[in-house]
Amino acid sequence: MILGTLITDGSSRLMTTADLLAADDRCHRCGFYSRDWQPARLQPNEALRLAVDTGLMSTEDDPGQTAGDEVMTLAADRGLDVTGSPYESAVHHAALSDIIVTVLRERKAPYTRPADAKGKSLTWVSSAFLAASNVRLEAVLLVDRWNEDRKWSVLHSWRVLGECAFYEQPMTLTVVLVGQRREGKHSSPWSKGWLHPRSRTLRIRKRTGEGFGGEWKPVWREEADHLSRDLWLDTMREDGVMPDVVFDIDVPAPCPEYAAKVRHLAEKKVTALHSTVEKPDPNISVCSWPTKCPFLDCCWEFHEPSEASGFITICH
Ligand code: SF4
Repeated sequence: MILGTLITDGSSRLMTTADLLAADDRCHRCGFYSRDWQPARLQPNEALRLAVDTGLMSTEDDPGQTAGDEVMTLAADRGLDVTGSPYESAVHHAALSDIIVTVLRERKAPYTRPADAKGKSLTWVSSAFLAASNVRLEAVLLVDRWNEDRKWSVLHSWRVLGECAFYEQPMTLTVVLVGQRREGKHSSPWSKGWLHPRSRTLRIRKRTGEGFGGEWKPVWREEADHLSRDLWLDTMREDGVMPDVVFDIDVPAPCPEYAAKVRHLAEKKVTALHSTVEKPDPNISVCSWPTKCPFLDCCWEFHEPSEASGFITICH
């Protein structure tokens, strides 16, 4: 049986089967390296994703705070792969994870993972959550933008289709729009509002649809200590932005024949990946798109991943 992989970074994080397959889909060399290595420094979006997962599964009284603390811990322990200030990036993403988890946990008790699914030749390590009914999966997807192309790309991904095929269950996919990242910050109602300097009124969006002019000044949530999380969330609701930035998609379970084909494909790909001995050729056109490949420096500076070059090992 081929098992999922465990990253020995001190916090025992699982590399899920869906993530391994996605790396291999991007580029066989990326999949090959991902069997054994992960960069020590995290992309801010990866830190955000890990922290949101931690907050969703937390049993603490304030899971939002737990998520925010997790970003700061990851930034301190692993470091963030940013060009600007790592501390500013950590604080921004901590505030973002805090408010997102607070909203999601208002709708649901702690999220839990399903048990690993057994295939013929592989154990599927899940990246999804199990609904309280035990007959439906759930997943939370953080995206910078959303359109029809993105939707179909997600519905055909290993994190959605692969999970549904291995568990033969439907899924509630919760999409959270965090906005595009510019100069290290995601610009969306979760993070950015408008403050009137004299009345100290916070607004997120004008109900008339107009922009903010005059004396209104932009304000980032992490920079406004006097604006509580509750006030920010109340303003998001009053200004009617919540349905635009968090919504559910109902993904039906694939029919048994289709699910079997997807499982067969996954097993074939993972088996081939684990039996690959020679480093695959690079796929240079996907090194920086749609996101920066974690092994970009290795390939473009002609060296192998190692602890000396800033990677941590994964044990099997
Ligand atoms: S940097 Fe490019 S060639 Fe290298 S593993 Fe990543 S996608 Fe493949």
